[in-house]
Amino acid sequence: MQALDAILSATPATDPWPARRQRTDELASRYPHAADILRLYRALLDPMADAFHSIPSPLVGEGQGGGSELSAFAVRHVLPGIIDATVETGPPVLRDGVIALFAAADLEDLMRSWLIPSPLVGEGQGGGSSLTPVETYLARATCGPVLEALAPPPSRLVGKGRGAGLCPSCGGLPQLSYHALSGEPLVSGPRYLLCSRCNQSWVFSRMTCASCGESNGTRLPIYQESQQFPHARVDGCATCRRYLLTFDLRRDSRAVPIVDELACLPLDLYARDQGLTKIAPNLMGN
Ligand SMILES: [Zn+2]
Ligand SMILES: [Zn+2]
Repeated sequence: MQALDAILSATPATDPWPARRQRTDELASRYPHAADILRLYRALLDPMADAFHSIPSPLVGEGQGGGSELSAFAVRHVLPGIIDATVETGPPVLRDGVIALFAAADLEDLMRSWLIPSPLVGEGQGGGSSLTPVETYLARATCGPVLEALAPPPSRLVGKGRGAGLCPSCGGLPQLSYHALSGEPLVSGPRYLLCSRCNQSWVFSRMTCASCGESNGTRLPIYQESQQFPHARVDGCATCRRYLLTFDLRRDSRAVPIVDELACLPLDLYARDQGLTKIAPNLMGN
C-alpha cells in the first residue's frame, strides 16, 4: 500500500504531456508538410512539461491574475528551456528573433504583458496581441504551461463574454474546438472550446460561432478535406469572417486536438483563401 501511495502522490491526476509527445511523433511521420513545426513543438514539450509540473504552491495563490511572481518564475525556470529548444530546432527567423529578444528585452515585463493583457486591447484578445509575433511566441510558450498548471480541473465550465466564447479560467480566446467521445458509436460527444492561453476546455454550443455568437446555420460555412484530415474541419462564420478548426475525436480517437491543430496548416491556408481570419493563431503563428 505504501508503494501505491507513493506512486499516486508522485503522479498528477492529469498529465497531458505523454499523450502530446506521442501524438506529435505520430503526426510528424503522417504529415511531412508539418514536420518542421512538429519537430519544434516536440522540443518545446519537455521544458513545457517541466514547467507544468514544477509550479511552486505559493504561486498557485496568484491564480490567473498573472502577478509579478508568475513572471519571475517563468523567466527564471521556464524561459531558458524554451529558448534552448527554439535555438536548436526553430526556423532561422524565429531563432534569430528569440536570440535578439533575449539580448535586449525586459523579459519579465514581456511575460507580464502576455499574462495580463492590456485593457486597451479589449476583452478577450487572448493576451499578447499588442506584442510582436516573436514576443507572443516566446511569452506563450513560456507562460502557457504555467497558466495551464494553475487552471482549475476540466469540468462543465461555462464560457464568458459574447456568445460565451471566452475561457472561463483566464478570459483567453478559443484556439480550436473539438467533439469529445460520447461512449456511443453513433453519437458525438459535447462540443468543447479549448483556450489558446491556458488549454482549459469548456462546453460550447454546436452550431454557434465561437467568435461572435452567430447561430444561423446558413451563416456558418464548413470546409473539410476528408482525405488528408478526416477528423478535422474549418468552422467559419460569414458574419464576423472568423474561423477555427474543429476536431471530431469519433473519427480519430487518438487525436490530441492541441497537437493536431498544428499539423492542419493546409486547412488554415484554405480558410485564409476564403477571406477568413483565425480567432486565435496557434503557438506557431498559424
Ligand atoms: Zn484560458
Ligand atoms: Zn462569427
